[in-house]
Amino acid sequence: MTYDKNNIFAKILRGEIPCKKVYENDYVLSFYDINPQKKIHVLVIPKGPYIDLDHFNKNASDKEIIEFNKAISHVSKLLNISNEERGYRLLSNIGTDGGQEVPHLHYHIFGGEKIGKMVS
Ligand code: AMP
Repeated sequence: MTYDKNNIFAKILRGEIPCKKVYENDYVLSFYDINPQKKIHVLVIPKGPYIDLDHFNKNASDKEIIEFNKAISHVSKLLNISNEERGYRLLSNIGTDGGQEVPHLHYHIFGGEKIGKMVS
């Protein structure tokens, strides 16, 4: 599988499409989902060209992997939904059966209310 440079998140990373930014550093970008499924629905993406978690873990540097993981907790703190507050749900869709629509690795962060059943 090859990375599609024209996917919507690649366009956001290149600044061709706007986003409502939550956080950014050299390795990650976090922004609000355009179609929120919960009171808080934020995405966290690596800046590198990775299709999904499997592709990322196989090809990314240790630094990229560490920074991506750390960014998720950092964003949860910025949103005031970390484990010390109300908590949140982290979700990543992978491939066809996973229901992934955008072929650039992303974690969904859901919070701000009870998230409910684990899978529907
Ligand atoms: P997935 O089904 O896991 O690939 O999720 C893709 C997510 O990207 C969906 O929740 C969409 O609402 C969201 N999305 C698509 N386009 C944009 C955009 N331009 N800005 C923010 N979120 C987007």
